[in-house]
Amino acid sequence: MKQVKCADLGNDCDFVAKGTLEEVMSQVADHATGVHKMTITDDVVAAVKGVMTEL
Ligand SMILES: [Zn+2]
Repeated sequence: MKQVKCADLGNDCDFVAKGTLEEVMSQVADHATGVHKMTITDDVVAAVKGVMTEL
């Protein structure tokens, strides 16, 4: 299982996404666009993958 902490993306936020790669990317995309008004660009996807950890 993979995990991404929103705080590791530079946000003051305690959201954590967990699951498969597809689930984590989907959860982060929904959260980032809905809560942080971010646009999911290739750079954002790369950043998310960069802070992703294996559980
Ligand atoms: Zn967040």
